[in-house]
Amino acid sequence: MNYVFPPAPTVALPIVGSDTLFPVRRVYCVGQNYSDHVAEMGGDGRNPPFFFSKPADALVPGGGDVAYPPMTEKLQHEVELVVALAAGGANLTPEQAVECIFGYAIGFDLTRRDLQAKAKEKGHPWEMGKGFDQSGPIGPLKPADPANRVAGAGAIWLKVNGEMRQNGDLSRMTWNVPEIIANLSQYVRLAQGDLIFTGTPAGVSTIVRGDTLEGAIAGIGELTIRLV
Ligand code: MN
Repeated sequence: MNYVFPPAPTVALPIVGSDTLFPVRRVYCVGQNYSDHVAEMGGDGRNPPFFFSKPADALVPGGGDVAYPPMTEKLQHEVELVVALAAGGANLTPEQAVECIFGYAIGFDLTRRDLQAKAKEKGHPWEMGKGFDQSGPIGPLKPADPANRVAGAGAIWLKVNGEMRQNGDLSRMTWNVPEIIANLSQYVRLAQGDLIFTGTPAGVSTIVRGDTLEGAIAGIGELTIRLV
């Protein structure tokens, strides 16, 4: 049978040092995974991780120009370590989760904070605050070192127009990468091609048209976007 119209193209990420592409299946995100960001959002303590999604086609591989989204007056940046899976499964242990790691990238979880706040207040879904078009700029994937697949430490920062706004370290994640994968796999069966944005350190701030955002994660990569 033919399709009634052509299927949407597969979203794919370039891989550092390779001429092959990483085809993306699903994009999950962890909420509030650094204690300093939990505090700035008004929370406390080490709560279990919680998850939301972005559509795969919300990714903006390589960054560059990003259109300022509609329906918001409070767009904010969140710089995050993104883990990419080469395998998956359900009810994984943290040890099994390590074996699923393909590599890492830097990503920006762009957030319509006003819509997210309204959703929180009303108990509504977060999608329209988090999963909008071009809400996930992402750098190229850096394959993990097979001898040490867990990215557990290293500077993670983001500057807006050259000014430091977020300046953290991966070692300050509340839940580490294997724990996040293992926990998420209790809720959904993970598979190769899945990405997980692992949360952001403190310092999120509001951005406007014309702003340039530069971010980096030590040993993983860099990403720049301009809001147009
Ligand atoms: Mn986030």
